[in-house]
Amino acid sequence: MLDTMRMNRIRPKPTGESRPLLLAGHPALDFLNTRMRVNRELVDFLQCDEDVLRWLNQAGLLVAKSRRSTAPMSLVDAARTLRANIRSLVEKRKAGQRGDPSVLNGFLVGAQSYPQLLWNKPRTLTIERLRRQDTPAGILAPIAEAAADLLATGDFNLVKRCEDETCVLWFSDQTKSHHRRWCSTMLCGNRHKVAAYRKRRRAEGV
Ligand SMILES: [Zn+2]
Repeated sequence: MLDTMRMNRIRPKPTGESRPLLLAGHPALDFLNTRMRVNRELVDFLQCDEDVLRWLNQAGLLVAKSRRSTAPMSLVDAARTLRANIRSLVEKRKAGQRGDPSVLNGFLVGAQSYPQLLWNKPRTLTIERLRRQDTPAGILAPIAEAAADLLATGDFNLVKRCEDETCVLWFSDQTKSHHRRWCSTMLCGNRHKVAAYRKRRRAEGV
């Protein structure tokens, strides 16, 4: 929480070309990764309500325009609060410790959905589950539910933080060998390959 408060104060602006990455293999972890290092600086991609809506859209958790929040707590504040709690719970769970899920549970209270009968063609009826998305908790419900599911049922041997010491990105290792070490081979993986190569060259006195 302290970390988040500090971030709120600093609020470095994401640069035009940088955007949040969807590489974690799980929506709740991708949501954590909306805060990442860009050129060594911690950058928060969630700066305003529009950023949150854009990210939900990019992550395929689309929010209908007519159902946006009218509640007093802004969507971005709610998103950051939820993200901080999910981060803490994921870190605790990974460390084999007990966390406090009360904030996440509070969001889950606002995660309301209901079935609706849809008559598509004369002989085709389906029941679809629709979400109430008129509050920040309702809009963020897909994330809260995904996080709860990950925490309760996920294999945390495969939920990993990138091995780069300065990297803050999390991912779910879905490779066959389960040896994924980096958030991305293009980012940290490549950097470490180059660093290891230089070290080897130095050791060889080249
Ligand atoms: Zn990384």
